[in-house]
Amino acid sequence: MTEADSASAIGAIGAVGVIGAGTMGAGIAQLALEAGHEVRIHDVDAAAIERGRARIRTGLERRAARLDLDPESADAWVDGRLVRLTDAPTLAEVASVGPGLVIEAALEDLELKRTIFHELDALVPARTILATNTSALSVTAIAAAAMGRGRVVGLHFFNPAPVMPLVEVIAASATDPAVVDRSMALMTHWGKVAVRSADTPGFIVNRVNRPFTLEALAMLEAGGTSIETIDATVRADGFPLGPFELMDLTGIDISLAAALAIFERSRAADDPLSERFRPSPVQERLVAEGRLGRKTGRGFYRYDDAGRRLGPAPEFAPADASPDDGADPRTVERIVLAIVNEAYRAAGDGVATPADIDLALRLGASHPSGPFERAAELGGPGAVLAALSALAPAGPRFDPAPSLRSAG
Ligand code: NAD
Repeated sequence: MTEADSASAIGAIGAVGVIGAGTMGAGIAQLALEAGHEVRIHDVDAAAIERGRARIRTGLERRAARLDLDPESADAWVDGRLVRLTDAPTLAEVASVGPGLVIEAALEDLELKRTIFHELDALVPARTILATNTSALSVTAIAAAAMGRGRVVGLHFFNPAPVMPLVEVIAASATDPAVVDRSMALMTHWGKVAVRSADTPGFIVNRVNRPFTLEALAMLEAGGTSIETIDATVRADGFPLGPFELMDLTGIDISLAAALAIFERSRAADDPLSERFRPSPVQERLVAEGRLGRKTGRGFYRYDDAGRRLGPAPEFAPADASPDDGADPRTVERIVLAIVNEAYRAAGDGVATPADIDLALRLGASHPSGPFERAAELGGPGAVLAALSALAPAGPRFDPAPSLRSAG
């Protein structure tokens, strides 16, 4: 993008509204301030706005620290951005500034989001793009609450939004293609890598990466391995975290909610293979017991008060095996093959292009290589098909995707 394109992207948008000042809303507001916009931030909870402001300040200070400025200039850099941030106690006050873009990052609740979009739609100018940061809800169902459905788009940021480079740009069934193009240009201007996704369950990353945790949980349930063995084997393959460490970090409740949302949406869409997304009973039990991972000090692993990992929870600590005993390369192979198969399914379903799926999994889920790149490393579609057929007894989820069959 040239400087002129960039200037026109921001000039055309002008002020930005952010709805919800929690983890994601604060991160998105920080990004918009850094990109030069006036920002109005709204939350139903005044204390959340205060916390959001504090988080935005800290985020900006971290950025300034990386700019190598002297302390006075760093303070001025932060203040120069914060001065463009205004609290908006009501949606009407967000609308009063005539924003070119409003991004909603309130709770993951369809009715709540529909109410917000219905109200916003009546308040903001016709040119305003209305975006939702939903993780797993249907953007089309949210957009249906607005008269101007053509202007509603999904902008799915990853946590932490100021750091994670990827944004999925989701076109709902009635989204105006020009709105998608403008959103893509703006995200690029904000310094993000934007990929286009269809409005299907889990979009790209949360769908294609589902087997990362589900296959690990299935292997755990089948016995003969341990969480430490699986985590160590997966890390040795180049992933930054193993699946159980990742679930403990994300929060097992959050991970389960994402799994459930994708499972339910794919069932509602009559996907004949929706069973492959069924959440694991192990996760359900841990959540029911309040063992949510790091944030509660207990999950798959145990943590001390300072957050240091002590070891696996007793039920996940095999009495007869040391941590890396029995590390089996087939563990990673099974997880990777399930991801590659899902990537072919997603591309075949028209969710995104193979190139964008590769980018999204590398940048949104920190995979060492994208699934299509991985398929090539494994010897191409023919070799993947042969490896999948060896896994067929594990269940129909290893049935090769139609587009993989035709490629092989
Ligand atoms: P959060 O709980 O940290 O923040 C949500 C905020 O929304 C809270 O401050 C709450 O007071 C506010 N809120 C509730 N009802 C509201 C309303 N009617 N109007 C305005 N504000 C309202 O949640 P979060 O983690 O920031 O997630 C926000 C959205 O982003 C969700 O849809 C979530 O699925 C999505 N998301 C989250 C992540 C993540 O990793 N946290 C990543 C991508 C997308």
